[in-house]
Amino acid sequence: MLIPGYPVLGICGAIAAVVGIGLRGTLAQVDLVEEEFRLVRSRDELQGLVFVDSLTGLANRRALDERLLREWHRPGQQEPIALLMIDVDQFKEFNDRYGHLAGDECLRSLATALLGHGLRAGDFIARFGGEEFAVVAPGTRLPAALALADELRRQVEALAMPHPQGKLGVVTISIGVAAAHATSESGPLDLLNAADRALYRAKQSGRNRVASQDDALANTVRIDGSRYLG
Ligand code: GH3
Ligand code: MG
Ligand code: MG
Repeated sequence: MLIPGYPVLGICGAIAAVVGIGLRGTLAQVDLVEEEFRLVRSRDELQGLVFVDSLTGLANRRALDERLLREWHRPGQQEPIALLMIDVDQFKEFNDRYGHLAGDECLRSLATALLGHGLRAGDFIARFGGEEFAVVAPGTRLPAALALADELRRQVEALAMPHPQGKLGVVTISIGVAAAHATSESGPLDLLNAADRALYRAKQSGRNRVASQDDALANTVRIDGSRYLG
């Protein structure tokens, strides 16, 4: 609408109105983009938490399952995938003696020690549940996996966390090791079961030990590092 006698003013007013409306639309769009960005970030953070163990900050069981599956189906995988199942020795007695909170603190220290030593860039460690941890080591044959496991066992022993019922008076771990080529006839569950059986053997043969799933080799690494037929 033109103001009689002031056409220029009217035109300027109309232009200002158009620019104002455009600007408001642009600002609203910027708000929308920012909101979307915030939502994506929160979603990513939440998704991240779903895969983290809240006590230790390590990856959790769900993340481990996912990683194992991904490694199993990785195209062109030539070398075996190794799995280490780690279990704290006589941890119930540790809790009974020092209390659950001290037990939690012990698990946190173990997580830090396991994470900090021996693992290579491609290795993946997780809290499997309770007082159990697991390591996925892609492209690792059994002897190398046994060596890695024994390195981890030694590191924990060297922490020298007091354990009144522990054989050495300190907290120790036992580790079951399995390595397998990914095939279409087998799956990650077979590897988990094999490592679990090996862990059972490590416990049976005295704890603070590393044992493999391979009955033919029957590898067990003793406290002093030497191997014998189990
Ligand atoms: P073994 O050497 O045969 O493994 O004996 P163990 O005592 O470690 O095994 P058992 O399965 O009998 O006990 C496991 C204990 O781990 C019992 C449980 O209270 C303790 N535990 C599991 N999760 C946690 C946790 O999150 N925090 C604490 N403090 N203790 C836990
Ligand atoms: Mg256990
Ligand atoms: Mg245990």
